[in-house]
Amino acid sequence: MPNLFASAHPLVAHKLTRLRDKNTDPKRFRELVREIAALLAYEATADLLTVARRVETPLAGITGTELKEKIGLVPILRAGLGMVEGFWELMPTAEVWHIGLYRDEQTLKPVEYYNKLPVEPTVSVCLILDPMLATGGSAVATTDVLKRWGVKKIKFVWLIGAPDGIKNMQTHHPDVPIFLAAVDDHLNERAYIVPGLGDAGDRQFGTG
Ligand code: URA
Repeated sequence: MPNLFASAHPLVAHKLTRLRDKNTDPKRFRELVREIAALLAYEATADLLTVARRVETPLAGITGTELKEKIGLVPILRAGLGMVEGFWELMPTAEVWHIGLYRDEQTLKPVEYYNKLPVEPTVSVCLILDPMLATGGSAVATTDVLKRWGVKKIKFVWLIGAPDGIKNMQTHHPDVPIFLAAVDDHLNERAYIVPGLGDAGDRQFGTG
């Protein structure tokens, strides 16, 4: 599928299996979310623009590069929070803009409850972070918000995606690249991903 990048890295697969295990406790779960996020960050930033930068090594001068683009991380509250640290380890100057959405359990539609984006965009590229792509309702809504904000380059990073959510994103935002650790089989009647890992928020925050 165009614009869909499912990681084939053995480290990602290894850590994701530990993450799925229902016996993994919240502390280890949070560590694994952070570690997998960092590995996906590496893949999702492969096309960032750079500019030349001259430095002196102890032996000679060399023209290297540095990042040109200003990066914004956009975790979707609350489960996306755990992915921020993994990204920040690699790009510590990235701004973090939170978007709060919850899923109405009756309609299964996203409801926005937190958004403090300033009027003008302050970054040139946004990486949206959310562990689970289920129906895609929150994903489409968040991407709508960032496009309205005026961000030119948007990428979405999930740990696990379901086919329905991927289809929904690709229908509404075919221009937004999607990065995932795995694509799972289906959604159950409560829109949880199967086999998935359960509720990513509850498992991180010990509230399940
Ligand atoms: N959100 C979760 O945390 N888990 C799912 O399986 C689907 C949505």
